[in-house]
Amino acid sequence: MQVVFLGTSSATPTPRRFLPAAVLARQGELFLFDCGEGTQIRFRKSRLKFTRLTWILISHMHGDHVTGLLGLLMSLQMAERQEPLRIVGPAGLQDYVLMNKRLLRTDFTFPLEFTEVAGEGALVYDGPEYVIEAGLLQHRVPCYGYAVAEKDRPGVFDLAAAAALGVPVGPLFGQLQQGRSVTLDDGQVVRPEQVLGPPRPGMRVAYVSDTRPCRNALVLARGADLLIHEATFAGELADEARAKRHCTATEAAEIARQAGAKRLVLTHFSPRYLDLEPLRAEAATTFEPVECAHDLFEVEL
Ligand SMILES: [Zn+2]
Ligand SMILES: [Zn+2]
Repeated sequence: MQVVFLGTSSATPTPRRFLPAAVLARQGELFLFDCGEGTQIRFRKSRLKFTRLTWILISHMHGDHVTGLLGLLMSLQMAERQEPLRIVGPAGLQDYVLMNKRLLRTDFTFPLEFTEVAGEGALVYDGPEYVIEAGLLQHRVPCYGYAVAEKDRPGVFDLAAAAALGVPVGPLFGQLQQGRSVTLDDGQVVRPEQVLGPPRPGMRVAYVSDTRPCRNALVLARGADLLIHEATFAGELADEARAKRHCTATEAAEIARQAGAKRLVLTHFSPRYLDLEPLRAEAATTFEPVECAHDLFEVEL
């Protein structure tokens, strides 16, 4: 997996930082978290092809998180996309897209599949390889954080062990790999654990923005290999963070610590900060490893 940050500012763009967007790349599939204005411009600067997008996960209907969506969809149309695109977000997102589509007299020939999340959250998707979870955060408007979590994969197939047990090369290999016991011609039963290494745990990436520290942030971040968390303000502006329903760098780090996350990347910085090192240093007193994202910052997992 790889995560590329496309925009890392909050509220307004700055000469160096575009508005919120981050892409998770997994096995040729792209997941976009939020779609601030200019997302497609940053996409073109990254090495990722936005035609590979399969999921767009929007946290909330504040303009800085969503106004890049129409331009991106129109560019996908111009690229003659055919495959369906799944768009997830709070109530109002579907209206926003479809009303703009109508007023701009544009058409999308690829299917848009909307999921509007309501209440405390939901299991948005449960597929063969991964799940997508949404959890209600605490912001000024309904806002959801997301986690993309891979399911555990079977262990590495041990060819030598299979040969030693007399398993012939062929379809029985596949059955063992899928976790099923097989019976050989001589009646011997071979169990998967005899030829498979230990299960390989799936990765978990959580995206939590915008919010006060809250229980669902912890739930999404629990054991995450990577937690992407907003840190709009430094600790000295804790009152402002509370009033505007955002987090300080310390509060983000505290979520990562309590959740047992393995790695924290901060984003969604107030435009007032030119140098982010003080925010990183502040967070690092509570949790490490922690980094501050910048536009086009890449994280390998
Ligand atoms: Zn925001
Ligand atoms: Zn917001």
